[in-house]
Amino acid sequence: MSPIPLITRAEGYGDRTAVIASEGTFTYAQLLADSAAVAACLLEGAADLDEARVAFLTPGGYHYVATQWGVWRAGGVTVPLATSHPKPELAYMIEDSGATIVIAHPQYEDTLRELAEERGLRFLLTPDILETPPTAPLPDVDPNRRAMIIYTSGTTNRPKGVVSLHTTIEAQITSLVEAWGWSGDDHILHVLPLHHIHGIVNVLGCALWSGAVCDMLPAFDANAVWERIERGGLTLFMAVPTIYARLVQAWNAAPPERQAAMTRACAQLRLMVSGSAALPVQTLEEWEDISGHRLLERYGMTEIGMALSNPLVGERRPGYVGAPLPGVGLRLVDEDGHAAPEGSPGEIQVQGPAVFTEYWNKPEATASEFVDGWFKTGDVAVLEDGAYRILGRSSVDIIKTGGFKVSALEVEDVLREHPDIAECAVVAMEDLEWGERVCAALVLARNGALTLQQLRDWSRERLAPYKMPSRMIELTELPRNAMGKVVKPDLSKLFVEAEQQTQPTAG
Ligand code: AMP
Repeated sequence: MSPIPLITRAEGYGDRTAVIASEGTFTYAQLLADSAAVAACLLEGAADLDEARVAFLTPGGYHYVATQWGVWRAGGVTVPLATSHPKPELAYMIEDSGATIVIAHPQYEDTLRELAEERGLRFLLTPDILETPPTAPLPDVDPNRRAMIIYTSGTTNRPKGVVSLHTTIEAQITSLVEAWGWSGDDHILHVLPLHHIHGIVNVLGCALWSGAVCDMLPAFDANAVWERIERGGLTLFMAVPTIYARLVQAWNAAPPERQAAMTRACAQLRLMVSGSAALPVQTLEEWEDISGHRLLERYGMTEIGMALSNPLVGERRPGYVGAPLPGVGLRLVDEDGHAAPEGSPGEIQVQGPAVFTEYWNKPEATASEFVDGWFKTGDVAVLEDGAYRILGRSSVDIIKTGGFKVSALEVEDVLREHPDIAECAVVAMEDLEWGERVCAALVLARNGALTLQQLRDWSRERLAPYKMPSRMIELTELPRNAMGKVVKPDLSKLFVEAEQQTQPTAG
């Protein structure tokens, strides 16, 4: 028996289907055999990789899963790379993690072979490692050892490597399995990137822990997702808000008979979940109209796993992320370090077995993010009638203007109700008079037109005066990262540039 919790469980699942992907359909027994082959290849006769970092890049599919398990079973630490990252980012993650082995799917061979060979690292291709006959016995990997380093998006600084132990991953998974009622009868469609906690833990990890089927698409494509839902058999779907928005668009673009079929097919699923960014109430409502599902919104972070979730059974309040998940210690702390009373905003702080151990090679950064054993998330929330509402990240979403604090997320939700606004993001801009100004970047609906004055006139009845945007720019699209999150620091720069262009030049 493997001492790695996720793998021990799989040993009991035998001939049940584990993964359906572009490479074929694979049982748990096959996955165990293939990951043992990967482990043997990585070990090259050694007894244990002893937490050597193995960076790997493959699209969503079976090669990803067999590689991840193979690295773990050989005693290594996985460093999943992002298919969306440019070469310098990949180079940074390989170097920062101190990876000694680099594995690529043939699709990424050119980029990664060069990066590995330039640095004298061992380079392997996924089809080859899956075919090594398992020779030596695999090591006994203590579950308290390091398992994975995930690089956080990093807004101002270089990304930091978030280290999880096998036991951390186990705690993150078991909390969700309990809260969302996962079982071996589940069948989930996986469309998320696999360098991020959402795709790695919430979808893949929970499915394999439960003996469920993980049906993997190599990347998100709205039509492919709809076709897969229509084909039937799925019970679960999890995605980020932008994916739901794209699925709504695709539904709207379909002819009426197909729309009816798409809607009918959604009824087969038992649960649809949204997270990793704020779910606009409008998207929640549109999705409910077309799919019949009230999305279950949850809140979490790479460093802590999932912390807050709406209930599986019971009321899911739009705009709220519910209550702490099983095993999660959570408190709200005000700026003076005191517990924030109900109704007052405070920083979310979390503790428990699902919280990460350290930022890789950054003891100072790790120490500064904890207070008395609580991890400081940097997110601000408020508790109202038993459910938490996220106000945003204190660094970019809490705008301090004229002595007031404004939640960018709250303003965004109001602006989205304007018929001419398709998408929007609100950021702060430094200002001598106000401290900070509320600035709105808008993507207008087709044929939409809006001036700042019109926006302010419309906002007057919906927002307090200090929450109304006083700067506006129009964009064709918002800058987003691979998870669909708006990159707010990039937006703030656009406002500064726009301001400079309107200033009269000296001389
Ligand atoms: P990541 O570590 O990439 O998953 O990003 C975590 C961050 O995403 C959190 O710190 C929050 O700022 C944000 N986030 C995640 N879930 C939600 C949610 N449901 N509502 C608002 N923000 C969220």
